[in-house]
Amino acid sequence: MNCRHCKTQLRHTFMDLGFAPPSNAYLNHDDLNRPELYYPLRIRVCDKCWLVQTEDFTSAEELFTADYAYFSSTSKSWIKHAERYSKKMISEFGLDHKSFVIEIASNDGYLLKNFLAAQIPCLGIEPADGAADAAEKLGVPVLREFFGEKAGKKLANEGKKADLIAGNNVYAHVPDINDFTKGLKALLKSDGTITLEFPHLLRLIEEAQFDTIYHEHFSYLSLYTVHRIFSAAGLRIWDVEELNTHGGSLRVYGCHDDDPRRTKQPVDKILQEERNYGLQELRVYLKFQPLADKMKDSLVSFLIEQKRNGKIVVAYGAAAKGNTILNYAGVKPDLLPFVCDASKEKQGKFMPGSHLPIVSPERLWETNPDYVLILPWNIASEVKEQLRDLAQKEDTFLTTVPDLLT
Ligand SMILES: [Zn+2]
Repeated sequence: MNCRHCKTQLRHTFMDLGFAPPSNAYLNHDDLNRPELYYPLRIRVCDKCWLVQTEDFTSAEELFTADYAYFSSTSKSWIKHAERYSKKMISEFGLDHKSFVIEIASNDGYLLKNFLAAQIPCLGIEPADGAADAAEKLGVPVLREFFGEKAGKKLANEGKKADLIAGNNVYAHVPDINDFTKGLKALLKSDGTITLEFPHLLRLIEEAQFDTIYHEHFSYLSLYTVHRIFSAAGLRIWDVEELNTHGGSLRVYGCHDDDPRRTKQPVDKILQEERNYGLQELRVYLKFQPLADKMKDSLVSFLIEQKRNGKIVVAYGAAAKGNTILNYAGVKPDLLPFVCDASKEKQGKFMPGSHLPIVSPERLWETNPDYVLILPWNIASEVKEQLRDLAQKEDTFLTTVPDLLT
């Protein structure tokens, strides 16, 4: 396989998680008697542009089906994040009723509804029907398509170029990152701004967040690599911010390469930080797998120890990253009887691979567990706050990162 960005032949493996079902392929009761599709989950790194990427095996369409169960609006902290983002963009770029905002992967309209409320014309691009329906109910116009150069050019030809293109949490999910970036270039007004948010590869490596690796994430991105991909498409990153979302993300601000805006200091600062850490050296990538294996071993021995001691451990949060760790560690309901999730769409279903039943958080109070393992550790503080009165002792709640990284 060649690098998805620079086409160099890929020779190095960053992480091999064996085989796993797609992490969003939640199962119904009837599915439990049927065979389940497992795909290789192997992550490669390019030693030329340092793009960390999944090995090819299947088409995106196969993974993102209409019953894709994730709705952005079920996470309160993500909704707040979207509100803050919208306010900031409106004031920073002076957006008003004459502006045009496009969000790629607009999900259920959780973000664009803020622009709608400020009477700023907007358009969401979203291929998943369930999410697009929900957004349209809020009054958000949606184009049901996968985004790429073709869609970008088509909209541009219809006179729908944007002042602001938002891609919060989509860039890492795109199979053809060059084509997607060319689409951004085509769709952007001459003085427009692109903002993209994606988990920062530096944080993933530093904090051994290997459970953020799953099939739907095609790329694991550093600022250095995104900078290269933007340049190749005739775009430039002129600012960057560090965010706490998803365990540590970057929000990059892009413009056309001939835009008069000067590149701000944080861009150089983060590029330097990445270089100092060694993100352009192979050794850093080759150290990752042993660390992830250690964490997997810690999780399994913790669960076995609790079971032997007659303690009850249950899980909270049926998130994709939970599926990665559960499947990699081979955890089944004998060690973790269920996982609670506030999303009604997921309740009654089963986690792919591990077959943990997904139940309502109310079950926690009936069960009175000794430990609650919060699988989406990135929203652990929000979950702890919601479940405050359940905790009988200080260590009731734990997360794989960092609690089990010992
Ligand atoms: Zn490359």
